[in-house]
Amino acid sequence: MDKYEIDFDTFLLNFKEHVPKLGFKNSVQKDYILKILYFSGEHLTAEQIAFNIKKEYNIDVGIATVYRTMKFFEEMNIIESLDVGDGMKRYELNLSLHHDHLVCTSCSKIIEFTDDLIEKQQVTVARNYNFDLKDHVMTIYGLCENCH
Ligand SMILES: [Zn+2]
Ligand SMILES: [Zn+2]
Repeated sequence: MDKYEIDFDTFLLNFKEHVPKLGFKNSVQKDYILKILYFSGEHLTAEQIAFNIKKEYNIDVGIATVYRTMKFFEEMNIIESLDVGDGMKRYELNLSLHHDHLVCTSCSKIIEFTDDLIEKQQVTVARNYNFDLKDHVMTIYGLCENCH
């Protein structure tokens, strides 16, 4: 998978070493959720994650467990969530290089992009407001080429 520079085994090992240090327990459910996110390389809902784990590995992970785990992952800052406007969060691993999103509000297609000008302009905006920029989220909503 070209999307990430780190291979999955190294990523998982680092993660599993880190979890107990935060006072939490490792679990096979966590491993499978990360595995699905890593190898799909996509933005998946909690339902899609549970469905794919069942399909790929024949393991049952309850939807409540997925939601709880995603909250944990978000707090650990290893995933990012994306709102496509249908009330269901999409999750992706926070491992690839920074990118922004175009979201189709009709078919929920998500396109990743980066634009140097947008990146630079945000630094300028922050500077103009004497603001210490740490991060940003940029999502463009609209209709993809199949939907307009
Ligand atoms: Zn569309
Ligand atoms: Zn993305």
